[in-house]
Amino acid sequence: MNNLPKIWLSSPHMGGEEQKFVNEAFETNWIAPLGPNVNGFEANLKQYLGNTHEVACLSSGTAALHLALVQLGVQQNDEVICQSFTFCGSSNPILYQGAHPIFVDSEETTWNICPVALEEAIKDRIKKGKKPKAIIAVHLYGMPYQVEAVHEVANRYKIPVIEDAAEALGSHFKGKNCGTFGSLAALSFNGNKIITTSGGGAMVTPTAELKKECVFLATQARDDAPHYEHSQIGYNYRMSNLVAGVGRGQMLVLDKHVGLRRKMNQFYVNLFKDVEGIKVLQEPNEDYFSNHWLSCILVDSKKTKGIDREQIRLAFLKENIESRPLWKPMHMQPIFKNAPFYGTNVAEKLFENGLCLPSGSNLTEEDRNRIKKVIVELFN
Ligand SMILES: *Cc1c(COP(=O)(O)O)cnc(C)c1O
Repeated sequence: MNNLPKIWLSSPHMGGEEQKFVNEAFETNWIAPLGPNVNGFEANLKQYLGNTHEVACLSSGTAALHLALVQLGVQQNDEVICQSFTFCGSSNPILYQGAHPIFVDSEETTWNICPVALEEAIKDRIKKGKKPKAIIAVHLYGMPYQVEAVHEVANRYKIPVIEDAAEALGSHFKGKNCGTFGSLAALSFNGNKIITTSGGGAMVTPTAELKKECVFLATQARDDAPHYEHSQIGYNYRMSNLVAGVGRGQMLVLDKHVGLRRKMNQFYVNLFKDVEGIKVLQEPNEDYFSNHWLSCILVDSKKTKGIDREQIRLAFLKENIESRPLWKPMHMQPIFKNAPFYGTNVAEKLFENGLCLPSGSNLTEEDRNRIKKVIVELFN
């Protein structure tokens, strides 16, 4: 390994104003899971998403997905459909509820949930006696899923869609923001996401009533009484006012950072333009706009003279550059080994042959030159 600084896949990128909001919290003693920064960050997000939805800031994206299941009434032994090709934060909350995940394969254009396999799964589960209670669809790596086709199937069977937009803040489909398509949607501000609060998340709701319910559940479900009275199980899932201060600062640079991530994607498109057997994930057509949170490639080693995903990863590693295989599908994970799966081998092939490349908005020209050098040397 060389002594040059590590190039990360996606590292936090502060805009400069974050500390001002955090200091305000100290100065006014709002060191609590509520306060002006939480309200301000929620207002910023609401406006960013087009003012059609409400936003409740939470402790993580996983917490948002968990509460979405609770709000949709998912209970023990219910079935919930989930895109298999995703991060475990999408699917673990199904287990938190004691419910059963039913995994569905991806399609090849956006790499997200396949509407055909989705319908096959719904039909078969109904035939077996249980109609799924919800569908979790994910805009993976920032790429919108096939919004119209997926929601058409969900609507036909009257099953609510939980939109996992953890990786897709700033992405849109036909001009509509990701996070506004689902019955409920989750955002994440974890350390590696397009904007970060160090850790955090949010629920996006179509109505003020649903936001109120979400906040109620996220603050231990306290009934209206002078003492502590609980008639429902609550959670401690609200966002801290300190953390929300970082979020307010990050909102000032969100669009700029989306632009820089998209530039990184274009850098890879150009870099691999003449390399046979490497495909960079891009929008299938103009309806789709990805924030390109992570830029990803698919390697066809039959066309690269045998160079495979792993060789590329190791060549980067040698130069102290981080890259990572695509998400390992949930139906292949030990914790979900008994869960049913519908589809073929699309997600499996993506995992076998796909690689995420350094994509941060803070990468420099020097970083890009180091990345380029690895690829040029490997393929010449
Ligand atoms: C990050 C992420 C989550 C979970 O968000 P956290 O804030 O880390 O809990 C869920 N789904 C996807 C697809 C993610 O990338």
